[in-house]
Amino acid sequence: MYSISKMKSILSPKFSAFSPHLPKPKTTCLPSSTRPSSESIVPNNLSCFYTHIRLKSTPLLPNTLACSAQNRSLQMGASRPPSGEIHVIVGPMFAGKTTSLLRRMQLESSNGRNVAIIKSSKDTRYGLDSIVTHDGAKLPCWALTKLSSFRQKFGLEAYEQLDVIGIDEAQFFEDLYDFCREAADHDGKTIIVAGLDGNYMRRSFGSVLDIIPLADSVTKLTARCELCGKSAFFTLRKIEETQVELIGGADVYMPVCRQHYVSGQVAMETARYVLESQKVECGSHT
Ligand SMILES: [Zn+2]
Repeated sequence: MYSISKMKSILSPKFSAFSPHLPKPKTTCLPSSTRPSSESIVPNNLSCFYTHIRLKSTPLLPNTLACSAQNRSLQMGASRPPSGEIHVIVGPMFAGKTTSLLRRMQLESSNGRNVAIIKSSKDTRYGLDSIVTHDGAKLPCWALTKLSSFRQKFGLEAYEQLDVIGIDEAQFFEDLYDFCREAADHDGKTIIVAGLDGNYMRRSFGSVLDIIPLADSVTKLTARCELCGKSAFFTLRKIEETQVELIGGADVYMPVCRQHYVSGQVAMETARYVLESQKVECGSHT
């Protein structure tokens, strides 16, 4: 169970505690081409302008929808926007997805918004109550197996007050689509999702790609190829395990460019073949 003081710290995390590890937040953390005009991260002096735009867009809705949106807005309090936003950050491992998520959350928090971060309880590499990037930045978070349990565990009243929800390692949440749709469409939350778009076989991982049609913005980050230093788009598994969900760090995975992904896969298959044939030989001698 989380104590009230911990909940408060999650609602208003003290980012200064880890700021030495994080670069100063910049509004340019996403490429400008991918930032929608309705982006919620705006300098303070533009926030009134932003609110104005959001309110002005309401009359464009059909009458019945506008009424229900207004009713919902009234139920949720006059200051809450009628709908939220969904921003998705994808890329291979070691591309800085979690760092980017933390920066966004830090920025939202410094703009006075209530934030909370959720990560999968499957990833226990750095403890269950904090989120840590590969470069060591750390933030308190909620470790859950299902996103649907968040509202209840966080507390309904606290949830109502929440503005921004960050979700890390989103590929591990089966109910990602439903949670994001509900939280953004009906609860007015801004959701920032970070996760792997593809697994080590370059196939869609979990439900991350399913939420692209729901998203306001999508950012694909790249890493550096561990073998040649070029931009890396893929994650190569260095060991033989073939289960899709194998949680590990640099001991198991490395970011690679297209060329080295292909040659790496060939090398892995050759190694597997050699190992298999050695097993057969050993077997024949016994
Ligand atoms: Zn390479």
